[in-house]
Amino acid sequence: MENILVLTHADESGSALSKSSLEAITAGKELAARLSATLIIGVVAKDAAAAAQALASTGARVLAVSGEAFALARYASDAAATEALCRAANATIVLAPGTSRFTRVAAGVAHRLGGFIDTHITALGGKETVEATRWFYRQRVEAVISRDVRPWFLLLDAGTHAAFAGESQPIQIEQVTVSLTAMRTTVSGFRAPAQDAQTIRPDAKMLFVAGAGWTKKQPDGQVHVTEAGELILGFLRATGASLGSSKSLVDQGGEGNSVLPFLTHLNQIGQTGSTPRHQKGLSTCCHGEEPHVVGWRFIGDRRAISLDPNCGWTRGKADVVYVADAFPVIAKLNALLEAKKA
Ligand SMILES: Cc1cc2nc3c(=O)[nH]c(=O)nc-3n(C[C@H](O)[C@H](O)[C@H](O)COP(=O)(O)OP(=O)(O)OC[C@H]3O[C@@H](n4cnc5c(N)ncnc54)[C@H](O)[C@@H]3O)c2cc1C
Repeated sequence: MENILVLTHADESGSALSKSSLEAITAGKELAARLSATLIIGVVAKDAAAAAQALASTGARVLAVSGEAFALARYASDAAATEALCRAANATIVLAPGTSRFTRVAAGVAHRLGGFIDTHITALGGKETVEATRWFYRQRVEAVISRDVRPWFLLLDAGTHAAFAGESQPIQIEQVTVSLTAMRTTVSGFRAPAQDAQTIRPDAKMLFVAGAGWTKKQPDGQVHVTEAGELILGFLRATGASLGSSKSLVDQGGEGNSVLPFLTHLNQIGQTGSTPRHQKGLSTCCHGEEPHVVGWRFIGDRRAISLDPNCGWTRGKADVVYVADAFPVIAKLNALLEAKKA
């Protein structure tokens, strides 16, 4: 019988589990129930007792590595902590969120334990054995993988499972002791851009895409890039949406043209960009060409605003297309959102 260990870590507070960790718990519970297997949860946190309270209703055995040394991501301490948890759980299947923290150490830990790892897992199936699904070739080919090697580490993509939500209660946890060798890396702190400076927000409900049209000559014969930037940032502020871009728009920066300063290639959605997961998407001033739209594969409700009634979006790629000038539409939307807030 499989011993399923779900590895989790705390968020920045150090005393609550990260959202991706709670998503991994859901995946673990579902898999354990289907295989009638044992579910064990491992917590890495500064204050694991507090973080583990959210797990009370899982009924799972909870193992924890706690303390100041495990407050922030660092290869040596995270690898030692997760290795110790895997050994204590005698895990055959290890599920972990594909966060930067665990992605960095999971392959090394799998190697230490003589196991195998697969990453970017989007679904877990199988009644008798574990069948893990992932996409290849820019989300065009979907593969189902099963392996005999144990322990088998599976890193789960964020947003593929609902976050586990149970009533928080004090629970019994088993502390696992980790003897750390002398650490060469000292973590002096955590620096992140202010929330409103960070435009890529994987946890946002909505994706807002800006296309090259924002920087093109408008009906008055002029470009309005400054106004475009203010409208886009205003929309992001009011909605908390994540900002995506077409390739044409981010490429303009490299060509020395006037461009929106807050966009980089990291914002690019599509075949040569990213394929994020959001419930809704709103595309603006973008033509909806196939290499762009392929990046919208996992967007639930797709809407677009374009001046072109013949653009790619209108040809069956969006659920709703508004054939309209995005400048006044977004200005009006922002005004309505501001009024609603006030
Ligand atoms: C190998 C390869 C890989 C590629 N990978 C990607 C990728 O990953 N991502 C990607 O995005 N592209 C990719 N492309 C490029 C892609 O094919 C398109 O060229 C690009 O997506 C077009 O960007 P756009 O729609 O923003 O610009 P444009 O094609 O210039 O379209 C601008 C649109 O804005 C509209 N518009 C202008 N003003 C307004 C206004 N005021 N209100 C409303 N609408 C307005 C216009 O009508 C027009 O439809 C790739 C191409 C190749 C060959």
